Amino acid sequence: MNKHHSVIIVGAGLSGLYLAWRLHQRVVDVVVLEARDRVGGRILSNCIDDNIENSFDMGPAWVWPQYQQRLKRLTEELGIKRFKQFTDGEMLYEADLHNIQRYGGSSSHAESYRIEGGCRALTDALQSQIPDACIQLDTRVDFIDGSTLSLQALTNEKLCLYTAEKIILAMPPRLIQQSIAITPQLPQEISDLWESIPTWMAGHCKIVFIYAKPFWREQGLSGEAFSRYGPLTEIYDASPASESYFALTSFVGINALQRRKISAEQLIKLSLDQLQRLFGVKSLNTIDIQLQDWSKELFTSSEMDISKEASHPHYPGEAARAFYDNRLMLAGTETAREHGGYLEGALESAEEVLAMMFSTQA
Ligand SMILES: Cc1cc2nc3c(=O)[nH]c(=O)nc-3n(C[C@H](O)[C@H](O)[C@H](O)COP(=O)(O)OP(=O)(O)OC[C@H]3O[C@@H](n4cnc5c(N)ncnc54)[C@H](O)[C@@H]3O)c2cc1C
Repeated sequence: MNKHHSVIIVGAGLSGLYLAWRLHQRVVDVVVLEARDRVGGRILSNCIDDNIENSFDMGPAWVWPQYQQRLKRLTEELGIKRFKQFTDGEMLYEADLHNIQRYGGSSSHAESYRIEGGCRALTDALQSQIPDACIQLDTRVDFIDGSTLSLQALTNEKLCLYTAEKIILAMPPRLIQQSIAITPQLPQEISDLWESIPTWMAGHCKIVFIYAKPFWREQGLSGEAFSRYGPLTEIYDASPASESYFALTSFVGINALQRRKISAEQLIKLSLDQLQRLFGVKSLNTIDIQLQDWSKELFTSSEMDISKEASHPHYPGEAARAFYDNRLMLAGTETAREHGGYLEGALESAEEVLAMMFSTQA
């Protein structure tokens, strides 16, 4: 038998969860179908003990409340605290092997903030505001019929059928294009548009090195380093606000296709060699190392995101947001006009969908 809901949201990333929360507040019968076994999507904060205060962001880490009013309001409403990115001290620049320069000045992250408990504090708080039954994990949507508003999903390999009055896809357009069959067929220019929008950061790999002591700070260094040699191209202090542990986070400069040719162990070994060059032998005393290769995540990265150069998504807006008389709508950061790619964009797109839904009803 089909399960029926007024609104079905596909994707429990920040955009989908925020939409579900706002709709639940308006007493709308809403369900979120999420392919992964967790909420958050690109938001992933790993803990090395069971204390979420000691979380390390493997996806987004920075927010800029001075420019991101929706995110600022949301964190305040949910009682989530922010703290400043640590940037005190000198930075390092590795021009080439054996050519490391130390320099002062203002960091590009001097005005960046992080979230206490990691960005998962946001999605955990939203999830806690929504009844458990409204979020179905392990449920991968693969077919939508826009004429009957019916939807097919696989839950633990079992086929489930749903119907709704409205379906909102809160996921990257390229993934929709690659993994969900939609009928009646949408115009070719919409498929072309979806294919052309890069999924922000989908091809990236982050490695976090966790320590008992901030040995770089003790050397007058901020932890920030840039390298033209690699394999890490950017490194920053990623210590949690609790300071029970300290950490350096890094972006790998080897692209997703090249990364397929080396193992995670080789990549970590090369990265530790580089940390030793930059910060000295103490950098080898890790308590833990966490690696997250987003290009290997089926529910983030499409083949196009791996093979093509990434740039900030640019979305044309309202005209491409709603289909079949506004009964199928699109949210997600890639569809935000102003803050596409960022956490703020996930909220911006969700708010635009809400505004369209409720203005149509009035
Ligand atoms: C390494 C990295 C660093 C980043 N750094 C920053 C930063 O510092 N600051 C910042 O503002 N932003 C940053 N971002 C971007 C930020 O993570 C995104 O803007 C935001 O998380 C997007 O949220 P979303 O809900 O739009 O999409 P997503 O989080 O991608 O959510 C989409 C959801 O849809 C689900 N899904 C996919 N396919 C299906 C299907 N067929 N059926 C059901 N569910 C499906 C997915 O599992 C996922 O949960 C970073 C991203 C990465 C990867």
